[in-house]
Amino acid sequence: MPEAEAPNRKQIGEVLLEVRDLKKHFPIEKGFFRSVQGHVKAVDGVSFTIREGETFGLVGESGSGKTTLGRCIVRGIEPTDGEILFRLPDGEAVDIAALDKKALRQVRKHFHMIFQDPYSSLDPRMSVLDIIAEPIRNNKLLSDSREIQDRVRELMDKVGLDIQHLNRYPHAFSGGQRQRIGIARSLAPSPLLIVCDEAVSALDVSIQAQILNLLEDLQAEFNLTFLFIAHDLSVVEHISDRVGVMYVGQLVELADTESLFTSPKHPYTEALLSAVPTTDPEIKMDRIILPGEVANPAAPPSGCYFHPRCRYAQEICATETPEWTQVAAGHFAACHFADELALRGADQ
Ligand code: SF4
Repeated sequence: MPEAEAPNRKQIGEVLLEVRDLKKHFPIEKGFFRSVQGHVKAVDGVSFTIREGETFGLVGESGSGKTTLGRCIVRGIEPTDGEILFRLPDGEAVDIAALDKKALRQVRKHFHMIFQDPYSSLDPRMSVLDIIAEPIRNNKLLSDSREIQDRVRELMDKVGLDIQHLNRYPHAFSGGQRQRIGIARSLAPSPLLIVCDEAVSALDVSIQAQILNLLEDLQAEFNLTFLFIAHDLSVVEHISDRVGVMYVGQLVELADTESLFTSPKHPYTEALLSAVPTTDPEIKMDRIILPGEVANPAAPPSGCYFHPRCRYAQEICATETPEWTQVAAGHFAACHFADELALRGADQ
């Protein structure tokens, strides 16, 4: 899938991650013999690239498949099909999806995931020192306990934690501080790519802003690359260089952040944007209420999966699958009428 350069807001390098036609189908087993009766196609043929130093936002309603996609990329769950090409520091590309367990262990330090819930994602029985040191020890990056402690202190300082709290346990910290611990842990093996799965969703708005600013500062300092998964579009707009929109396991639109927010080309994106609170008190947005629920990924509708909820749907939409098409430089959409519809962006 060809894609244009990301906007030059910061140092964007070569392609670091290329996801090709990725699928994750969960079998539906029924009956006494647990025979497979069908599949939930949580991720169904997704392709995109992320460049070094870039933040790629991934949005969609709950059930769109974005978290499953993120977990497949770090091999937290096994993809069903497709390739996840990842460029290692020496320039060699590996297919994360095809690595055996031993090979996966060797490259795992280069990518990490930050989870949504800072309360349950940290082991309550481990001290901050052990939580942050664990990936250092597991990857045998340092063995001397003094050096490990120094590295943990350095990481705590980087994420704004008091280094005196090294031996405290997670329950002694607030939600924002716990997420900082999670971020320090993810930085410990000096990864190239961090997958942030709803990393600020569970936090208060003021704390969200602090964590987003921290992530941006760390990205600038360590040239990190982020896949930022979130349902909150204003958060995604703030942090992302480019954004992909998922619906029922598929990408339906992909563009640089400004184009996607000012000039969406897919009716689903338009509806999501209409729900973003406006920053201009003069503008009163009419929210587009989508009828019905997200389609069932085990039995999606024919043609365009979005057609039962789409206010622009025509006859062809129920019978023919729309092609993934470039509608402007670096702007892709899967809609039969992407070139013709005059859709509203955010704040319009
Ligand atoms: Fe709506 Fe048809 Fe476009 Fe699908 S292809 S988003 S139903 S207009």
